[in-house]
Amino acid sequence: MSRGERDGRRVGVVLVAAGDGVRLGAGCPKALIEIAGRSLLSHALAGLAAADLPPPVVVHPVGSAGDFSAASAGLPVAAFVAGGVTRTGSVRAGVTALDTGVEVVAIHDAARPLTPPQVMRAAVDAVRGDVLAAAPARPVADTLKRVDQDEILATVDRTALVGVQTPQVFVRWVLDAALAQPGDATDDLALVEGLVAQRKAEGRMVTVTGSLLGHKVTYPEDLALVRAIAEGRM
Ligand code: C5P
Repeated sequence: MSRGERDGRRVGVVLVAAGDGVRLGAGCPKALIEIAGRSLLSHALAGLAAADLPPPVVVHPVGSAGDFSAASAGLPVAAFVAGGVTRTGSVRAGVTALDTGVEVVAIHDAARPLTPPQVMRAAVDAVRGDVLAAAPARPVADTLKRVDQDEILATVDRTALVGVQTPQVFVRWVLDAALAQPGDATDDLALVEGLVAQRKAEGRMVTVTGSLLGHKVTYPEDLALVRAIAEGRM
């Protein structure tokens, strides 16, 4: 069965790529930075295609449609739309551009260019039955401390903590309801958690096994790490 459908429900994909890359100091939109000969955007699109997911709506920075279209050449894209000032604003723009018939939505960061296709598939496949949302997650390896500036206050129990990645996958109506609420969040699950806490949606949110390769490019050292992996130096 094609991943364009899951349990008879149509899947839609949004690739958010409207980040400015200021924390990277790159001087261009983050998704257009090249590693191993092509842009982060191109790597992410190739990963989605390899996962047999439908062509995504690509959310780009305002005024960058031409550059993003050029950087996507040869790879499947459903549509290009301009993003917002915040990540949540960009997600709202992307989800609005999906076909009305889409019932399950995967939202992926272009800043995670090396996410393995099997991780993408696992997240999509997990949204079935009473599962409202799913995301790849990894255990937290470092010991966590609560701090005040550089002052260490306490150790935080990490046994019940994970780091979550993308794609985050949702039942469409639940995501629409979450995005209709005011406010922003650093990930989309946080918005759905609010709905579930208010009992406006009933069901489970689950994790699937994430990957170190799903690492997000945020700071220069993240870019160096992902570039080394993509170039086969690690
Ligand atoms: O800024 P951060 O790295 O957390 O962004 C995660 C993802 O969200 C990136 O793929 C980035 O392009 C996207 N984003 C966006 N619109 C924004 C901010 C971030 O599409 N306004």
